[in-house]
Amino acid sequence: MDELAELAREVNSCQKCPLYRTATRGVPGEGPPNAKILFIGEAPGFYEDQQGRPFVGAAGQLLEEMLRAIGMSRRDVYITNILKHRPPGNRDPERQEIEACNEYLDRQIALLQPRLICTLGRFSMAKFFGPGSMRALHGRTVRHGTATCYALYHPAAALRDPRVKDVFAEDFRRIPQVLAQAEAAAALAAAESGAAAADAAEDVPPPAEQLSLF
Ligand code: URA
Repeated sequence: MDELAELAREVNSCQKCPLYRTATRGVPGEGPPNAKILFIGEAPGFYEDQQGRPFVGAAGQLLEEMLRAIGMSRRDVYITNILKHRPPGNRDPERQEIEACNEYLDRQIALLQPRLICTLGRFSMAKFFGPGSMRALHGRTVRHGTATCYALYHPAAALRDPRVKDVFAEDFRRIPQVLAQAEAAAALAAAESGAAAADAAEDVPPPAEQLSLF
């Protein structure tokens, strides 16, 4: 079984926090394993909990509309959440739940090795950006290993407030440009580590037979 499928199996039988008791099923996430972009939302809502798939309700429709506007579809990207089980009544995730679920997200990032991680909303933003308000941090980027993280508003917040929707749409339209910058940064980092490895190899003393020539 491939590792993402194994992770999904583990999520579906997860009992690390009490949310499994009230949820219908786990929502591990979905998308192609070679996706360059990983979207991370907050937690499954009603429809996600019913179907076991992320972002299939109203927020998901807006996400799909935004993806279409930049010439992509949800089949091109990987989508998951901070929490893999629905909190009752769609309440905010609690700290212990986030901590319990964090290992799954870290494993997904390690397996997918995305170039760009788009956080949707304040809970996924906090994982990579630390403390700070959505208003201050949206549209900013930060490095996470070999990936670039890009902070976006949550589509549900955009649906609630037309001014937030405008900002969300504007940030979203920059994704192709941010992805190109992320690719360039990753290529530079790879070239630098290649050059550093070559330098290190040159510093290795020659084998003993060669030493005897000097
Ligand atoms: N909101 C989220 O944060 N995630 C979903 O999967 C659906 C709605």
